[in-house]
Amino acid sequence: MTVPQIAPKVGFVSLGCPKALVDSERILTQLRAEGYQFAPEYEGADVVIVNTCGFIDSAREESFDAIGEALAENGKVIVTGCLGAHPDEIRKHYPNVLAITGPQQYESVMNAVHEAVPPAHDPFLDLLPPQGVKLTPKHYAYLKISEGCNNRCSFCIIPSLRGDLVSRPIGDVLKEAENLVASGVKELLVISQDTSAYGVDVKYAESQWRDRSWRTKFIDLAQGLGELGVWVRMHYVYPYPHVDEVIPLMAEGKILPYLDIPFQHASPKVLKSMRRPGAQEKTLARIKAWREICPELTLRSTFIVGFPGETEEDVDFLLDWMREAQIDRAGCFKYEPVVGAVANTLEGAVPEEVKEERWHRFMQVQQEISASRLAAKVGRTLPVLIDGQDEDGVTVGRTQGDAPEIDGIVRVASQKPLRPGQIVNVTIQAADAYDLTGSVL
Ligand code: SF4
Repeated sequence: MTVPQIAPKVGFVSLGCPKALVDSERILTQLRAEGYQFAPEYEGADVVIVNTCGFIDSAREESFDAIGEALAENGKVIVTGCLGAHPDEIRKHYPNVLAITGPQQYESVMNAVHEAVPPAHDPFLDLLPPQGVKLTPKHYAYLKISEGCNNRCSFCIIPSLRGDLVSRPIGDVLKEAENLVASGVKELLVISQDTSAYGVDVKYAESQWRDRSWRTKFIDLAQGLGELGVWVRMHYVYPYPHVDEVIPLMAEGKILPYLDIPFQHASPKVLKSMRRPGAQEKTLARIKAWREICPELTLRSTFIVGFPGETEEDVDFLLDWMREAQIDRAGCFKYEPVVGAVANTLEGAVPEEVKEERWHRFMQVQQEISASRLAAKVGRTLPVLIDGQDEDGVTVGRTQGDAPEIDGIVRVASQKPLRPGQIVNVTIQAADAYDLTGSVL
């Protein structure tokens, strides 16, 4: 008689951006496929994996703290993710970690887990849902299309951590998307470091999906995902000319009329010293042309104030540009040096109190734009994807112009109970600077 083995339990701490989240999902999927179970607490875990972020100093600190906590609480710790690209630094602080691997080194993580706690053999646990294990709620999922980045922005160390662009074959990406939709996902969030550069590294190689050939290219990806009949949201797109091609698909309702473009600044001088991709004088004209084709287009972005050498004129230029471009949603960061970034050698450091003042000015302008663009939605009836209930028991959802976690919400009044993942038509009755309120008729 075979005595069933107890499956070893793995604790998991996932830090960082959506891209790191996708890495975590891949590791968790592989662990589950091999029969491991997950431990919600440090106690009871046979080993703990910490997926770290090493982008800015505060994220590095958070990662170091998480490793320290896992060691203190459990003792058997494997470190992976961006911070794992600097093993010496981790070993200096924590010589007792079992293993250290860099970002996307799934195999090395699995080898380290095997060494720490070999998997129990149970063929039934090999039965894995085809969509893998997801950390996001069931009705939306991130779809990672590539790793790494060919750009060399002066404030960023991601290319040195994650290497140059490596695009996944489009057939694999579309198949994964199809599996996610079959499992109940209603919204796909496309992520990478530079979504518009998709396929450049493989010279737009073709692969098969649904009995036809597709190029590993942004427009083909948009067309393919547009066939799935769910919300498709494009993140981290740069305003290259070929992005123009996807705007008609947004106007036709194939993919969401939403673009997340991390502009970071508008002043040509600052953009040049940031070495930003797609930094062109024609960007404003391009945005206007996009809005003529697709008036519903929502633009979300992130900006940095206080970059070395930034002057008051640069900030005025940025704020005028924001008003002109009518950027719907924007996050703003005060520049923070990142260990190893080229920008650290630039002259003209901006004092902290000046950064603070510029940040407040930026946020005020951004709030005014956001409030006026949301006010224009009052009285309209818009499709809203229900996410669930907030802490006060109010049903909340999002319009097509709102990505989860980073954008606004819609508070929805309804006679009937609404389920997460349901899409309902909501008549908008009120708006503030970030959120909407409405009811289902
Ligand atoms: S586009 Fe620039 S900021 Fe983004 S990952 Fe690449 S180098 Fe970093």
